[in-house]
Amino acid sequence: MKKILVTGGAGFLGSHLCERLLNEGNEVICLDNYFTGQKKNVTHLLENPYFELIRHDVTMPFFIEVDEIYNLACPASPIHYQYNPIKTIKTSVAGAINMLGLAKRINAKILQASTSEVYGDPKIHPQPESYWGHVNPIGTRACYDEGKRCAETLFVSYHQKNNVRIKLIRIFNTYGPRMHPNDGRVVSNFIVQALQGRDITIYGDGLQTRSFQYVDDLLEGMTKLMATGDDFTGPVNVGNPGEFTMIELAEMVIKLTGSQSKIVFEPLPSDDPMQRKPDITLAKKVLDWEPKIKLEEGLGRTIDFFKTIV
Ligand code: NAD
Ligand code: UDP
Repeated sequence: MKKILVTGGAGFLGSHLCERLLNEGNEVICLDNYFTGQKKNVTHLLENPYFELIRHDVTMPFFIEVDEIYNLACPASPIHYQYNPIKTIKTSVAGAINMLGLAKRINAKILQASTSEVYGDPKIHPQPESYWGHVNPIGTRACYDEGKRCAETLFVSYHQKNNVRIKLIRIFNTYGPRMHPNDGRVVSNFIVQALQGRDITIYGDGLQTRSFQYVDDLLEGMTKLMATGDDFTGPVNVGNPGEFTMIELAEMVIKLTGSQSKIVFEPLPSDDPMQRKPDITLAKKVLDWEPKIKLEEGLGRTIDFFKTIV
């Protein structure tokens, strides 16, 4: 039995990760400040004697003895990470320093939830890990993008200078049950709007693309990465290469929900990337991983979840 710390464990991805790690027979400590996560995402785990929930902010040091750390603490939706950009940077940067310091002190393996946003508005398509990205350092997304880029730099530096065992995963847009209905991300927005018969809000002309991955596929890649040998640090892209325009996504959601909602167009937020699609050659090779769940199937499961809460 391993003892595993999951920061941001009460959030969308973190709660699924805690559940999976417990099911695999590990002891899990979930740490969260509940900024975007909710206790109710993990209350069903509280009866498990091997699960522990702690309210803590990763910008403050934390001490515990564990074998592995999954560092997921950070708001992920644009409206939430832009709400207090300075706090977002502190969470990514001071949070990484605190968790890396802990990993160094207790000799734990540590995984960082990085993001496809490190590629910014990419000029290379699809994006391989070798691409350095195209990020506006003073734009509306910078607090998130640059915070995550700096966190990657910190991870690599702790690895090179202090032999900390690190794993960098670059997560592409992930969706599924337990997304917050008001977090403003496109999948949850479209599904909630469709289920409530409200207009579906496409920002810009709707021709921008994203590649959507179902949460279960991500967790498979993430846990496989954690299990790789100490010489493999990543970064490695984990995402679904299926690429869709926002118009295609809206039409699929309307079809699957049988909704009468109409599509409306609203202004595109600044610095919104035009295209995004992972090159997953490395994940296939090193992790023997590729996504299994097609967008239609994953959306169906996600719609079933939202029907229970909206
Ligand atoms: P989320 O907002 O649901 O979860 C983030 C969690 O971190 C929340 O529970 C929140 O309360 C917690 N948190 C935020 N700041 C904190 C702090 N200072 N101290 C302690 N806890 C804090 O988002 P998510 O989609 O579950 O994302 C989880 C991680 O994965 C994030 O690091 C995000 O950047 C990364 N990621 C997610 C996606 C995606 O598509 N979902 C894509 C790329 C990267
Ligand atoms: N988007 C949209 N309507 C919405 C919410 C988002 O058209 O109601 C667009 C957004 O402008 C972006 C894409 O959907 O082009 C994905 O947005 P999301 O916030 O989910 O993720 P990110 O932009 O961080 O990849």
